Amino acid sequence: MFATCRHCTKCKVNRPRGLCWSCYYTPGVKEQYPSTSKYARRGLGNFTGNAPLPSNPTTAVPGTPEKMAVLELRAKLKQAVFHPEDARYEGDPRPLEFMKRKYANVIRREQKDAQVQCA
Ligand SMILES: [Zn+2]
Repeated sequence: MFATCRHCTKCKVNRPRGLCWSCYYTPGVKEQYPSTSKYARRGLGNFTGNAPLPSNPTTAVPGTPEKMAVLELRAKLKQAVFHPEDARYEGDPRPLEFMKRKYANVIRREQKDAQVQCA
């Protein structure tokens, strides 16, 4: 008994993804069957191309459920899973420093607007 092709279920599997030779090389067929290799990247993060960086780093500490939720959200949004300014330990000032730099101009502008309104 040999493994049969996942697509035509007739031929012997002799190509990756559990497909036979002719199905594997038929345009559009192999795309319907994800890789069966345990070394292949799978799951939500399985897309090609350069993912854009998330707009903001997270203060969630690695290994916490909060951080896992952040990673999951980023993967769903097709963003890079890690941000270079993510917190690396409890109380890491890195993400907050980043936000301060990023929003410094916005905050200054808002303060100016507020002053105008009060005048
Ligand atoms: Zn086949």
